[in-house]
Amino acid sequence: MKWPQRWVAAFVVTLPAGKGESQPVSEACHFPHTVKHILVKCTCYSAARQRYFGVATLKDVFENVASRNIIAYIKYIGFCNRI
Ligand SMILES: [Zn+2]
Repeated sequence: MKWPQRWVAAFVVTLPAGKGESQPVSEACHFPHTVKHILVKCTCYSAARQRYFGVATLKDVFENVASRNIIAYIKYIGFCNRI
């Protein structure tokens, strides 16, 4: 799946740089915090996803969620949990 460029840019800005070491791991669910995990899987942020996305699958996120909502969500979880 090809990621829209604006989303990639938003994540690059928001997520901490990898430094070639292990990815940040979700404290609650212990999965690596990949983009997909954050957008559709992470149980820690399910309430926030409902609030900002209102959809359940990555396909729906891509097709139906406005980019400003994605960015607002990323900022929200980054602010709360310092991913
Ligand atoms: Zn998680």
